[in-house]
Amino acid sequence: MENFVLSHLEPGNVFRFFEELSRIPRESGHTDAVSAWVEDFARARGLRCRRDELGNVVIWKEASPGYEGHPAVILQGHTDMVCVQAPGTDHDFEKAPLTLVLDGDWLRAEDTTLGGDDGAAVAMMLALLDDDAIPHPPIEAVFTVDEEIGLLGAAGLDCSDLEGRMLINLDSEDEGVLTVGCAGGARCDLTLSLPLRPASGKLCTLELTGLPGGHSGAEIHKNIPNANRVLAQCLQALPDARLVSLYGGEQDNAIPDRAQAIRWVIDQAQDGDIIALIGKGHEEYQEIRGVKHFFSEEQVALDYLAGKKQAL
Ligand SMILES: [Zn+2]
Repeated sequence: MENFVLSHLEPGNVFRFFEELSRIPRESGHTDAVSAWVEDFARARGLRCRRDELGNVVIWKEASPGYEGHPAVILQGHTDMVCVQAPGTDHDFEKAPLTLVLDGDWLRAEDTTLGGDDGAAVAMMLALLDDDAIPHPPIEAVFTVDEEIGLLGAAGLDCSDLEGRMLINLDSEDEGVLTVGCAGGARCDLTLSLPLRPASGKLCTLELTGLPGGHSGAEIHKNIPNANRVLAQCLQALPDARLVSLYGGEQDNAIPDRAQAIRWVIDQAQDGDIIALIGKGHEEYQEIRGVKHFFSEEQVALDYLAGKKQAL
């Protein structure tokens, strides 16, 4: 094929499919093209295939000779990717292909996220399905969509025609490590109707800041104090207090938090004070599951100051 920058890398088929995949825009919620590409792959090889209305694709491959009696194995990965680009660039994630760059031993994309999560799984599954020399049991390869915005494809997948009772999810972090159990996760929206009552007394603001924060997916076992929970415990210890409002947290997968602390410090500053934002370093991102998300302390401070100025 033309102009493959990864053509010399091994295993060749994995990198070839990864590079082909990288040319197809595949932001969560915009996965029609990548689903069609996976479907075409199956058709071209005469493999049984099903695509559902969400865009999930399942491809079946018979066992190789000698493995016919073995139980089927389901392989699963997601086709969508997190789309973040470097500040000041204007990559169109709906239309433009990624530009892959090989930097020594590192593969990256120019100005954008690479989509290795979970493009690596898609490439490996296709390479396996494409190769008739690798011995394998019956394979049911499941390509799900919209994982990054709430596992929507997996949640809506019709599993009734899948025979496998063992599924290998190819969306983990470390090579050579297989995880056999998971605590799972739950996301919920709760609405409480609380009685409003007139109250009198001193009005206080109770702020809890300076906690280290973290990612709930990777660090929940470290017992990092969660500002929301600690604050609730403080309120419980004040039985006579009346609550006016409560606020905490920025994202549902981030243990709160730092932006809130910056805004609080600005509120406390007097004329002539200098505020130093130190401790985290000068990075313009925070890394969540290996993906760098833009986060600038400077921007948080400037945005908050601009809002305050407007309010004056
Ligand atoms: Zn993933």
